[in-house]
Amino acid sequence: MTTPIRMTRERVSADNKRIINNDRTVDINQLVPIKYKWAWSFYLDGCNNHWMPTEVSMQRDIEQWKDPKGFTDDERHIIKRTLGFFSTAETLVGNNIVLAIFKHVDNPEARQYLLRQAFEEAIHVHAFQYIVESLSMDETEMFNMYREVEEIYNKDEFTMGHTDHILDPKFTTMTQEGIQRFLENLVGLYVITEGIFFYSGFVMMLSFGRQNRIPGTCEQIQYILRDESVHMNFGIELINTIIQENPQVWTPEFQELTVQRIKHAVELEYLYAKECLPKNILGLNPDLLKEYVQYIADRRLERLHLPKQYNAANPFPWMSEVIDLKKEKNFFETRVTEYQTGGALEW
Ligand code: MN
Ligand code: FE
Repeated sequence: MTTPIRMTRERVSADNKRIINNDRTVDINQLVPIKYKWAWSFYLDGCNNHWMPTEVSMQRDIEQWKDPKGFTDDERHIIKRTLGFFSTAETLVGNNIVLAIFKHVDNPEARQYLLRQAFEEAIHVHAFQYIVESLSMDETEMFNMYREVEEIYNKDEFTMGHTDHILDPKFTTMTQEGIQRFLENLVGLYVITEGIFFYSGFVMMLSFGRQNRIPGTCEQIQYILRDESVHMNFGIELINTIIQENPQVWTPEFQELTVQRIKHAVELEYLYAKECLPKNILGLNPDLLKEYVQYIADRRLERLHLPKQYNAANPFPWMSEVIDLKKEKNFFETRVTEYQTGGALEW
């Protein structure tokens, strides 16, 4: 929300800042004094990770994709389904930030990060457009997949369902119910969409990368995964801070509802993974993917201080290596992009 500025000698104190509902008490245009140092630091992380899709060479991917023996039909199916899902999911996330979240997060340092994140989502959309175009895939097939493939439609429909209430012009965060709806949106986007729905796609695509296949696509997926883990960490911090500042909304019923939603998402993600990869391929199978999704869902629940539901082990320890990589420039040793801002893969 925006409020008119007024002449005054009363200066903004960081203590008065709130993530939401602060519009009547604190000037929302002043970044400094910063209260939420984590938000500023996530913003700096995002800038340091800057990259552009077109800086990644797609030459080997193009050769491999054109080669009739380059991939089996099952493998081509997995790649197309994953790219098809991501090519619209990134747009949904970007729209949600700009149209639903930004308006109700009144804090300038959190907004600073949201502006950065919105641009990163545009870069991710660009990445999938660039991959689809480079590989001369059928663009209409790829970008319509979320309306044509039930398992993708179900995920996106679930995601978008978290946005409807917030887009209602009468929506307000001034009530307990409003804050709960808003938290539902944040959990839906940051924890479920970016934190769960993206991950079987990451595993499937990066499994090709581990065999040195479609290396340019996989390098971009790695950059996206790195960005997404910052998005999710910011989102979780945002959710937990809103709860801290409005503890009355975090009722046992609402906590239970949140757990149920996450469990439902795990189910949808499993059905999606099974559609992409119905049998044993690339050392993966639907059961392993299910276990992985359950494992990461437990991690997300813990971060929200909610009880673990699955106690599943991580079947892909190499994924944590990719995510936690600090020193290696690039997990698959493809070309390293040195960015002026220092954005190469140093996790
Ligand atoms: Mn993204
Ligand atoms: Fe994201």
